[in-house]
Amino acid sequence: MKKIVIAIDGYSSSGKSTMARDLARRIGYVYVDSGAMYRAVTLYALENGMVHPGGEVDVEALVKALPLIHISFNPAGADGIQHTILNGKDVETEIRDMKVSSLVSPVAVIPEVRHYLTGIQQSYGEEKGIVMDGRDIGTTVFPNAEMKVFVNASPEERARRRVKELTDKGEAVTYEEVLANIKERDHIDTTRKESPLRKADDAVVLDNDKMTITEQMDWLLNLYQTKIN
Ligand code: C5P
Repeated sequence: MKKIVIAIDGYSSSGKSTMARDLARRIGYVYVDSGAMYRAVTLYALENGMVHPGGEVDVEALVKALPLIHISFNPAGADGIQHTILNGKDVETEIRDMKVSSLVSPVAVIPEVRHYLTGIQQSYGEEKGIVMDGRDIGTTVFPNAEMKVFVNASPEERARRRVKELTDKGEAVTYEEVLANIKERDHIDTTRKESPLRKADDAVVLDNDKMTITEQMDWLLNLYQTKIN
């Protein structure tokens, strides 16, 4: 059967990672969470003294260290979910905490970081049969992807989902702090010079504020069918 590249872009906490992962599982494709790669680079910076106490990133040191940052994925961790591996260590939990979330967008504006990760992401897509989610997948990483989806949901709805996800994991966060982080990341992601978050001209919009997971999946599978026929 014809294999294609599927790009799913959208705002923070719009549920795109879950839907991309579930779609990949349903159609037997490889799933790549590009945000996890930006998060892993951010964690590396934090763990290696490249973040000043005021929160500014030591860009020069981080750019120099990029060749030392090896990111891979363990397709199914103990919980059946894909885990991110940074230099041989499973960092799936650490990359999701608020410390990393607050710093990841400033790290993701660094052009050298973007070029480094974009190159790796493009190599994953050479054989097609891949679903990748992020901010610039349909615009920069795979501008020729056969299927492009842009996911939309209000900041308030996204904050509610994120608070639930974090509190379920035992992290103490408030709705206000999460909403502020989401708005801040939206702002940085959409206004940065290098590959800003925007809908590709040929992407289809999925407004998922009021859709159930099942409705979303049916919507995606329908679109996928039209693309492979
Ligand atoms: O998808 P997730 O929220 O985990 O991504 C974390 C951050 O990584 C985003 O807020 C964005 O700043 C950055 N990112 C990016 N380009 C991508 C994926 C993520 O700039 N393709």
